This record gives sequence, C-alpha cells and structure tokens, in this order.
Amino acid sequence: MNTFDDLGMPFPLFLAPVAHAAVDDAGSCEMCGRPASVRFSGACYKCFRNGGVEHTVDTEFGMVRVEDAQKGLTHGIPLSDPSILSDYELIPHPVDPKFPEETWFHVRIETEFLLELVRTPTYLAWQGEHWQFCCRRPCVFLGRLPATAVSPAAESPSAHIAAWFRCPDWSSVAHHDYGSLTYYGFRCAECNAFRYHEDTD
Ligand SMILES: [Zn+2]
Ligand SMILES: [Zn+2]
Repeated sequence: MNTFDDLGMPFPLFLAPVAHAAVDDAGSCEMCGRPASVRFSGACYKCFRNGGVEHTVDTEFGMVRVEDAQKGLTHGIPLSDPSILSDYELIPHPVDPKFPEETWFHVRIETEFLLELVRTPTYLAWQGEHWQFCCRRPCVFLGRLPATAVSPAAESPSAHIAAWFRCPDWSSVAHHDYGSLTYYGFRCAECNAFRYHEDTD
C-alpha cells in the first residue's frame, strides 16, 4: 500500500498508508487553484505544508486548531485529577459558573510540534482521530489495524499490537474488515515507544 513518502508528499508524523488518511478527492487547490491529485482540507500538498490552511486535529489532550498550535496549547480536556498528567504543564480554563464542577485544562506542547501536527492529515477512525502524545510531543501515526488481524485470544493485546507494528504487513490485513474493534498505532519520535488507542463502529 502506498504511503505519502511513496507519493513524494512526505509527512513526518504520518507514515501510515495513504488509504488510512482522511483526505479530500482530487480537485483544484482552494489556496492556489492548481490541480491536485489529493487534497488536504481542500489544499494541495504544497499549500497545506506551507501552513495557513484551517485544519483541526483531535488528540488525547483535546482539539488542536492552528490558533491553538500558535499558542503552544491544546484546546484542552476535562481532568478531575490533573496529577495524572504531571509530566505536562497544564493551564486551567476559567471556571464556567454554570458547571463549576468541571475542570478543563489546556496542555502545553511546543508550538513547533503542534504546528507540525496541524500540517499533517488526520486518519480515518470510527469515532474520530485521537492523536497520541509521548515525550511532550505528538507521536508518529503508523496506521489502523483491524483487531481480527492480531490474536483475538491474547489476554493483553498491547504486546501483540506493538509487535505487529514493528514490521507491518498491510497486504496481510487487506482482506480483514474494519467493521468492529480497530487499533490505531503510533510511535514516539523521541523515545520510540509504541502507543495506540482503539475504537469500534
Ligand atoms: Zn495549492
Ligand atoms: Zn516518548
């Protein structure tokens, strides 16, 4: 299966097959008007990579829009126990008097890393993307794996999933369907740790 590298359109944070990306069909770039074989939020590769295209990525630390990336903060997540993210700098949202119990926090991530993330395509997922972080930066997306492609009897599937992604063979999963439990694999660009999340249709 083709990757964006194969198409000459590299994305440092997206090494998965092109078929796993949420992209737009061929057409005219909404920024420069040139014909594009694949478009990202309406733009050609060049315009998308140059920035300035409105593009939002949902993450485990909340939504990231271009304006969030410029501030070096995610839009935020509700946390009842902020100490679970003690490795990160958290900036509390102002308390909404209507919901005083809800405590939301922005998560600080270097602007450079978040700007790279909003210049990266999102991936197809049943419940929407949920980009993972490690070492205070967005991970590299490796692809979506149907749960039926790894040992379904495994008590702790994470080791099997990580092993599968160490040498992915996408042709071997082509006949599996993504109709139920699906794993989304990531690798940390800093420490090489494997991360994943899962969802179902
Ligand atoms: Zn363009
Ligand atoms: Zn890491």
